[in-house]
Amino acid sequence: MKLTDSLGRQINYLRLSVTDRCNMRCFYCMPEAGIVKAEHSSILSYEELLLIAETAVNLGIEKIRITGGEPLVRSGIVGFLAKVAAIPGLKHLALTTNALLLEQMAAELYQSGVQRLNVSLDSLDAPTFAAITRGGELEKVLRGLDAAEIAGFPPPKINVVIMRGINDAEILDFAELTRKRGNTVRFIEYMPVVKEEGWQRYCFSGDEILERIAQQYPLEQIDKGLYAGPSRDFRIPGARGSIGIITAVSGHFCSDCNRIRVTSTGQAKGCLFSDLKTDLIPFLRPPDRDHLAEALKEIVAAKPVGHNISCDGYAHRNFTMSQIGG
Ligand code: SAM
Ligand code: SF4
Repeated sequence: MKLTDSLGRQINYLRLSVTDRCNMRCFYCMPEAGIVKAEHSSILSYEELLLIAETAVNLGIEKIRITGGEPLVRSGIVGFLAKVAAIPGLKHLALTTNALLLEQMAAELYQSGVQRLNVSLDSLDAPTFAAITRGGELEKVLRGLDAAEIAGFPPPKINVVIMRGINDAEILDFAELTRKRGNTVRFIEYMPVVKEEGWQRYCFSGDEILERIAQQYPLEQIDKGLYAGPSRDFRIPGARGSIGIITAVSGHFCSDCNRIRVTSTGQAKGCLFSDLKTDLIPFLRPPDRDHLAEALKEIVAAKPVGHNISCDGYAHRNFTMSQIGG
């Protein structure tokens, strides 16, 4: 079965958030104070999350990415992942993490059936990393990356949000990781979601990132992976890892969008930046598979053509990335 939206885009990818809690406080993702945590009773149970995952796969979703907040801080996560991995018809299960807990959890994550890890890592310089994450320890993340490979994972994909004046001087160091360590590195444009005076100064476009890399290295364009969605992919000749550019803000790549999202409180969204959402709780408490499937189909059918965020006149949205799952 295929899930297709009103524009003919095939929707095969679900980002499923399991928590809004996090053990870091990246300044571009969460405000420093005043975060309103979701009530415990509103966070979906693992049974409810599993019902959503199964229903989505029955409808045609082939890839699920587990996200958060930080998914590894939720207790019982490994058992849940094993159940998702076992859903008949699911072709790809991935997890996005800040890797603070990866060193101790890598082996059990691998055994659970997760196929791929994405690690968010915005600086290779310990003080800059600590400043971006408001206290995160770079060494722990690097040990987590090693532990993942020792456990059997392919080199994790590294997601780096480039922000002018914060970490743009490290673009070439990250590109070099694709040769040195074999990681795929995906450069993500900073998106204005946290209300901060003067946020425009951080904007750094995907084209600028590419230019920086191309000044130092020849780049060959490569085919996107099967579920890559809206990224442009390149390789430094001979490097094991590739370079992806995700121009979420400047690129207007919405015509290639292949995903829907469900938050840890059961809000289904067809577009990260749309205010349109559907509350799935009425179809989960008590469970009602048929109406849940209808609601997911409606979210796909109502997927907006695109978003209108930009670094010029964008009005902030009323959410943090940790609530939606990025
Ligand atoms: N805690 C996990 C992590 O950091 O990988 C998973 C959740 S996090 C919300 C998912 C992704 O959203 C991360 O790769 C993060 O860098 C990205 N993200 C958060 N805020 C962002 C922003 N303002 N602009 C661009 N990407 C952002
Ligand atoms: Fe936490 Fe991930 Fe947001 Fe950083 S980006 S604060 S690690 S949820």
